[in-house]
Amino acid sequence: MEQADRLVHGTAAGGTVRCMAAVTTRLVAEAAERHAVSPTVAAALGRTLTGTLLLGSSLKELDRLTVQIVCEGPLGGITVETNARGEVRGYVRHPEVAAGLNADGKLDVRAIVGEGMFYVTRESGYDIGLYTDPYRGSVPLVSGEIAEDFAYYLTKSEQIPSAVMLGVLMRASDEGETYVAAAGGLMIQIMPGADEKTVAAIEASVSRAPHTTALISEGASPTDILHAALGELEFEQLGERLVSFACPCSYERAVSLISSIDRAELESMLREDKGAVMNCHFCNETYRLDEAQLEGILSER
Ligand code: ZN
Repeated sequence: MEQADRLVHGTAAGGTVRCMAAVTTRLVAEAAERHAVSPTVAAALGRTLTGTLLLGSSLKELDRLTVQIVCEGPLGGITVETNARGEVRGYVRHPEVAAGLNADGKLDVRAIVGEGMFYVTRESGYDIGLYTDPYRGSVPLVSGEIAEDFAYYLTKSEQIPSAVMLGVLMRASDEGETYVAAAGGLMIQIMPGADEKTVAAIEASVSRAPHTTALISEGASPTDILHAALGELEFEQLGERLVSFACPCSYERAVSLISSIDRAELESMLREDKGAVMNCHFCNETYRLDEAQLEGILSER
């Protein structure tokens, strides 16, 4: 039985190192299935979903974090959003694009991402109307492989030197269908005051650590992943939470959105389309209102 998706965060070296790791196999598989993506896009979207969850591991209630990659490669872009409950959702502009394997025999994510920008938005209070000015940071993409881009963002924009590993392992079933066999990642952030010896030890142990997805496919938990990455360095686990793909859209919300459209447009939808169709970008759910439902909305005006 495949383990549940979860995220662990902790500190080491007297609080001068923050570390987090996540197993995200199920949620990446769900995102890949919802958006009917190619294997290369599954890797790009899965890495971004995991990286965003890790970046959001210290979010407080009512906080929302959005990572957006806008790129010139055929993928076009990736948008992922997460909250303090460990819920994450995301989509790409062109789910069908694909590339072969790169020189390392891995899915060539860089080939579909290419050059572009990496944006992070931190907001709070949106859901209850207590909305404060969002924090926004951006850096150019330095790699297109996603993990390095998260690390570069943290180092440049938030002044937190970081090591980031993100992985999605795709396998082929007996029927020849590719599926997400393992997904997850880790993030190690060096805070001010960390001593050089600790940093050097972390760099050495991270470089020796096995691939995150190799560990996960053998059943490793987020805590195991942190042990593998931190080696001798002990860490204190501060929290653990379940993480999942979740989108707050619903049929009721779709109806209320359609109810807010002006009368002339509703009448033309009724005349020309005999109904209304709404698609949620984030989770690719489609909501349909038939003729009678649209007439009902109009007559309630
Ligand atoms: Zn949705």
